[in-house]
Amino acid sequence: MNDLTQGQRKELTAEQQWQQFSELKTAQDYIESLRGRKLEVFLLGERVEEPVDHPIIRPSINAMAESYILADEDPQLATVWSSIAQQQINRFLHVPESPQDLVQKNKMQRRMGQLTGTCFQRCAGLDTLSVLFSITYDIDKSHGTRYHQRYVDFLKKAQKRNLIVGAGMTDPKGDRSKRPSDQADPDLFMHVTRRTEKGLYVTGAKAHMTGGLNSHWICVMPTMNMREADKDYAVIGMIPATAPGLTYIYGRQSCDTRALEVGDIDKGNAKYGGQETLVIFDDVFIPWEHVLMDGEYEFAQELVSRFTAYHRASYVCKTGLGDVMIGAASSVAEMNGAETASHVRDKLVEMTHLNETIYSSGIASSYEATQHESGAFINDPILANICKHNVTRFPYEISRLAQDLAGGLMVTLPSQADFEHETIGPKLDKYLQGKTSVSTEDRTRMLRLIENMTLGRNAVGYLTESMHGAGSPQAQRIQVLRETDFGKKQSLAKRLAGIIATDADSHLG
Ligand code: SF4
Ligand code: FE
Repeated sequence: MNDLTQGQRKELTAEQQWQQFSELKTAQDYIESLRGRKLEVFLLGERVEEPVDHPIIRPSINAMAESYILADEDPQLATVWSSIAQQQINRFLHVPESPQDLVQKNKMQRRMGQLTGTCFQRCAGLDTLSVLFSITYDIDKSHGTRYHQRYVDFLKKAQKRNLIVGAGMTDPKGDRSKRPSDQADPDLFMHVTRRTEKGLYVTGAKAHMTGGLNSHWICVMPTMNMREADKDYAVIGMIPATAPGLTYIYGRQSCDTRALEVGDIDKGNAKYGGQETLVIFDDVFIPWEHVLMDGEYEFAQELVSRFTAYHRASYVCKTGLGDVMIGAASSVAEMNGAETASHVRDKLVEMTHLNETIYSSGIASSYEATQHESGAFINDPILANICKHNVTRFPYEISRLAQDLAGGLMVTLPSQADFEHETIGPKLDKYLQGKTSVSTEDRTRMLRLIENMTLGRNAVGYLTESMHGAGSPQAQRIQVLRETDFGKKQSLAKRLAGIIATDADSHLG
């Protein structure tokens, strides 16, 4: 497509957009598919010519690539039969057709967390694919539109080619007291700027976008409920990550420049990392075939609710990271010779209790999923919100206990270069030894891993993302209030208390 003019390149038809994607079979195919895309990516004030080879970005690509490796090594867990594509596909592209599908998804997410120790970035996109199935169905039913079939056609192609679809949901939002259409700058929420015979154009930005530049497609969608005045903001569309008009600005992570150093010890988890970017969409074209909502503002609220039901249960991902953290803390205790102390054992039990509490609420919400008229299954919303709410707290407590067991050395350790120094290296080796059966290097590596996950680059994935990803704590409390039938609970209490029940609804919820 090199011979196209700039105007033609901007307004590629759906068919032309699909021409850039061939079927990916392996993790290596995936990594190669990201090469040479000439994206506008900025990091540390510089344009990055090739993100795949950038030492700060590459760990995030490795984490995403793990989803292809797992599908290969454990197909039972990470692949599934799709009734849409009529073939076995990667589970990260699958619309749940049963509660068991959602349970398996959670198990896969925990496994991915165990393997990478970070955010592996694929779940927001997966949960978007799931929610669009039922939302496009509902919009069509109410408006006589044809979004659902368009969507199924899109999904089938993505499933067959084994591609990654990222989720662009969170608008920058500007003045929080104002609606999208009331903002001083209209671009603070993504909106349609014009419509042509071939499609529509959008302008705006999506913040904290997980794995954006590691994706092949980005689905943009509303971030909150909309009113009639916000009609132009009620837009859902599929955009190739390579579309003209996209700029990716890479978010910093604590200690991220350690990735630029020689040697892997101080990096803590050298191979894997998460990725959050601010993605700016400047007059980006979406052909009608890839538009899945255009003005049906009354469905924005339901889109967000259903998305969060899926995505807040997806946060069982953090139990995989918790498994790594508990493993690291118990290893350090052993390396220090402290494993038999009763308070050490008790702290490990406490960490396990917290981690499994997260898992139990998430997996329960999948078992309790219900079927939507479209055929897709949706997580139980209250249990999903409880899962995510647990995640806003427990990884912090697990991290506190891991730091307790690690000891202060975790943050006073010298660098790898010091350990390798001709004269001071042997002295460090002697004085920073734990149990004699454990090398000083192994003990150092384990401490660096805990540092990485609780204070360093992957603290984004284990802690801050646990707090704010898929909505900050208050968002879950609002949803729990909305979804809980307090009237029903009051009737139970009134019956036992001998109070004559009335039909009056509770004013709560
Ligand atoms: Fe998946 Fe967890 Fe990352 Fe969200 S935070 S994309 S659920 S790994
Ligand atoms: Fe997330």
